[in-house]
Amino acid sequence: MSDTSEKFIAKSTIKAADLEHRRKINFNIGRYNAVVPQGKTQFDNVELAREKAKNVKWRAIETLDQQLEQFEKVFTSRGGKVLWAETTEQAIEEIVSICKEKNCKTLVKSKSMVTEEIHLNDAMEKHGIESIETDLGEYIQQLDGEAPYHIVTPAMHKSKEDVAKLFAEKLGTDPKLTPEQLTLVARNILREKYTEAEVGVTGANFILSDIGGVAVTENEGNARLSCAFPKTHIVVVGIEKMLPSVTDLALFWPLLSTFGTGQKITVYNTIISGPRQPGETDGPDEMYVILLDNGRTNILDNPKQRESLYCIRCGACLNACPVYKNIGGHAYGATYSGPIGSVITPNLMGMKDYKHLSFASSLCGNCTEVCAVKINLHELLLDNRAQSVEEGQTTFTERMAWKVWKIASLKRSMMNMGNGSLKNKVVNGIFKDWKKHRGDLDFSPKTFNEMWKERLAKTTNNRDEN
Ligand code: SF4
Repeated sequence: MSDTSEKFIAKSTIKAADLEHRRKINFNIGRYNAVVPQGKTQFDNVELAREKAKNVKWRAIETLDQQLEQFEKVFTSRGGKVLWAETTEQAIEEIVSICKEKNCKTLVKSKSMVTEEIHLNDAMEKHGIESIETDLGEYIQQLDGEAPYHIVTPAMHKSKEDVAKLFAEKLGTDPKLTPEQLTLVARNILREKYTEAEVGVTGANFILSDIGGVAVTENEGNARLSCAFPKTHIVVVGIEKMLPSVTDLALFWPLLSTFGTGQKITVYNTIISGPRQPGETDGPDEMYVILLDNGRTNILDNPKQRESLYCIRCGACLNACPVYKNIGGHAYGATYSGPIGSVITPNLMGMKDYKHLSFASSLCGNCTEVCAVKINLHELLLDNRAQSVEEGQTTFTERMAWKVWKIASLKRSMMNMGNGSLKNKVVNGIFKDWKKHRGDLDFSPKTFNEMWKERLAKTTNNRDEN
């Protein structure tokens, strides 16, 4: 068992028994469940909208090379710069080099999972640059020294009392502050940072190849401020966030907001297509887009798993997942949690260390049911499992167990050996690990062969009597 797998089991065992954690998650997901059906009523046919979105993403991903080149061509024609990063290290190197050139001491950052993926804040700290999260949820998590808990709602596991206590500890505020007062405290601190920062970093919800633009969706306006005040704007984005046309946003913006938070449309939707142009009053002097691969082309190379690149990170599958609702976002030990995280993480980070995530599913299919772009998540989880076996990522005990099982099931004489209680004793004694989280296996007192013989005898007797 890998280290990551052991940690996952240890953390999830604790979380699954933490009733207070479950109460908070159920409360927050309950609020989500109450508004999403309302949001969906804005679509005449929500199933058709999901199907259409899947088709658009299919086209974007199938022609990704051309779309990316088109994006680069148009974006650079307006003075933007595109940097291609194959790995986390390359992306960090580019960002550090830009920051050094701009003599950056403070960097403001809006909510972006891809910057979590490359651990941007830690890297900046190593280079003596203060990197401040400006999304309220992310700011709370940064204050607490924790990674985001959920891809849409980073501090979902914290109650308002938890946040008030945290602010009191870290910022010296009154522990009885209300959510509105806490928001004002954060706002006052962050407003100063926007004006101090030399560099602003954002992610992108979508990149638009036809107009060479970047689309950012947010509810707080912090992403706009992060790219409006600093003189340099850096966008870090995974290559899969591609949409062929700006007109696709008419479908994807409402889809993302409804499936993400139940809103008909998110509060701020911005399209940025380059640095400030001559005659314009707003915008940065320089704008960079870092197109990040970091394992995505491995997924692209796999015809079955390619579908997972359609994900628009709405978070609906996390909210629907019985496993996520029990163990929470941090137990996964990866940037992306929940069903989509369990699908992509083994392919992004390696089967050897992360295949266990694909096994952490009841395969109920709820994730597939709710996915905004109809990704067959539960089938991809199964495919990951098959792939891990094909790659030989199984333990010796597991291989032996299946070998013995195969031999036994192919031989009637072995299947007939011993009665039910003996089998219960032997099998439950051998598979102790299996039993840690499950009930005992319970064999039938009679073998199939015995039952079949009895049935045959009964039928023959009945026939003779008649
Ligand atoms: S897999 Fe589907 S439901 Fe899950 S985050 Fe991505 S788009 Fe949303």
